[in-house]
Amino acid sequence: MDSMTFVLFGATGDLAKRKIFPALYHLFLDQKMPHSFSIIGLGRREWSDDEFQTHVEHSVKTFSTRFIHDRSKLEEFLRAFRYSPLDVTNMDGYKKLLKIVQQREKELNIPENRMFYLSVAPEFFDVITSNIKESGLGSTKGWKRLVIEKPFGHDLKSAQDLNEKLSQAFEEDEIYRVDHYLGKPMVQNLEALKFANPVFQALWNNQHIANVQITASETVGVEERAGYYDRAGAIRDMFQNHMLQLLMMTAMHVPKRISSQDIRNEKINIMESLRLLQKEEVGLHVVRGQYGPGEIHGKRVVGYKEEPGVDASSTTDTFVAARLWIDDEFWNGVPFYIRTGKRMKEKSTRIVIEFKNPLKEWYFPKNEKTAPNLLVIEINPNEGISLQFNSKNVLNDGKMETVHMRVATNQKNVPEAYELLIFDALHGDTTFFAHWKEVELSWKWIQPVLEAFEENLLPLHTYRSSSMGPEASHKLLEEDGFHWW
Ligand code: NAD
Repeated sequence: MDSMTFVLFGATGDLAKRKIFPALYHLFLDQKMPHSFSIIGLGRREWSDDEFQTHVEHSVKTFSTRFIHDRSKLEEFLRAFRYSPLDVTNMDGYKKLLKIVQQREKELNIPENRMFYLSVAPEFFDVITSNIKESGLGSTKGWKRLVIEKPFGHDLKSAQDLNEKLSQAFEEDEIYRVDHYLGKPMVQNLEALKFANPVFQALWNNQHIANVQITASETVGVEERAGYYDRAGAIRDMFQNHMLQLLMMTAMHVPKRISSQDIRNEKINIMESLRLLQKEEVGLHVVRGQYGPGEIHGKRVVGYKEEPGVDASSTTDTFVAARLWIDDEFWNGVPFYIRTGKRMKEKSTRIVIEFKNPLKEWYFPKNEKTAPNLLVIEINPNEGISLQFNSKNVLNDGKMETVHMRVATNQKNVPEAYELLIFDALHGDTTFFAHWKEVELSWKWIQPVLEAFEENLLPLHTYRSSSMGPEASHKLLEEDGFHWW
C-alpha cells in the first residue's frame, strides 16, 4: 500500500473519537496501514501535538473493541499523529497545514499522497475543498483523495450544487462518499451471496421472487440530535442514503466483472430504472409516521413532540415506509418494500426475500397455513443468513412444516464499517462508496416525496413507541396480499 498523509478535518469531534481513531488503530494492529504514514488532525481547539496524541490514546482505550495493552505498540501508533488548529474558513491555516504536510513527507521520505477526510458539518465541505485547492495542498505529485461524511445535500438541488463545487477541486474518482451501511460486512457480502451461489443467482428475478422487504428499525428515539434530526427526518437521515443503498445492493444485476466501476454501474442501472413518483401519488405508495409516547423495556418514553429540542408542532417524520418498483425486465412486477423508523419494537436491519410458491395448493390444502420460502439477510445488530422452507415431518403424520436453516457470523471479531471503509479508501478502492450518480438518482426519487411531505399531501400517522410503525404501513403490504416479515 502507498505511503501517505491522512489529513483529518474535525479531528476533535465525536465521529473521529468514536469511530475514526479506533478504526485506524485496528488497521495499524493488523498491519493494514501503509509502511510509512502520518496523520494530521485539525480542529478549532488550540491543542499541541501532545494533547492531541493523549486525546487519540484516550479514544482508542475507550472505543476500541480490541485494545491491547502493549505500550510500545501504542506509542508507535501515536507517534504518527500531529495536530494543527485550523478555522476552515481561514486561508492562513491551510498554508500552515501545507508546510506541516510537506515537512512530514520529507521526514518520512514519502510521496505526496494525500487523503483529506472531512469529518465536519456539511456546510464546510465546499469551503474546505476550495481552500485545499487554493492553498496548493491539492497540487500533489502523488494521488489525492477526498473522503466525506453524510449528509450529501438536503434535497436534489443542494446535492447538485454541492457536487458541482466539490468537482472543481476533486475528480469523481478521487471522491469517496461514506455511507457506513456500505461498510457493514453483510452488505459487502450481498454481491457474493447472490452471484457466487447459482442457487440464489438463478432465482434472483421476478419469475421466482414475490417481493423484497428491507427494514431498518431502531428502538432509540431522537436522543441528543434533535437540532439536526428535526430538519432531516427519517426520509433524509436514513431513506435517501442507507435504505436506497441497500435496495441497490439487493437488486443489482450481475456486473461484467467484479470491479468497482462495473458494480457501481449496475447500481446506477437499478436507480435509473426506479419508477419515479409524482408528488400527488406519493400518498399511495409512501407512509409517514411520527412516534408517540409508549413503553420501551418497561420504561415510559415520551413522544417525538415532547423530546428536548423538538417543537411541539413538529411534523418531522420519524418513520417512513414505501413501495418501490424497478422497471426492468428482471424486476417488473416485484414490489420492493422499505421501512425505517425510530422508537420501534426492535433494533434490526435486515433484508427479506419472499419467494413465489406456484405449487402451494398441492401441499397446503385450503385452510392450512402456508409458508413461503424466505431468505433473510440479517445485517445488524447480528449478522446471519437464514432460509425458511417447507418439509414433511414424519413424526407428525407426514404433515407439512416450516423449517429454518441459519448461519450466523461470530460477532466478536467482525470489523467495524469504518475499518473496512478506511482500508478501501487507503487502497483507492471505491466499490463501497457512493458514486455521485447513485446519490443524485436517490435524491431524484426522494424529491417528490419531500415535496409531498412539505405540502402535507399525505397524513402524518402517530405510532406508539415500541410498535412496528403505524397501521398504514401494514395496510400498504396488505393491498398487494403480503405482510411484513
Ligand atoms: P462534531 O460536532 O462532534 O465535530 C465537528 C468537528 O468540526 C470538530 O472537530 C470541530 O472542531 C470541527 N469544526 C467545527 N467548526 C469548525 C470550523 N469553523 N473550523 C474548523 N473546524 C471546525 O461532529 P461529528 O459528530 O464528529 O460529525 C462530523 C461529520 O460526520 C458531520 O458531517 C456529521 O453529519 C457526520 N456524521 C457523524 C456521525 C456520528 O456518529 N457522529 C455519523 C455519520 C455522519
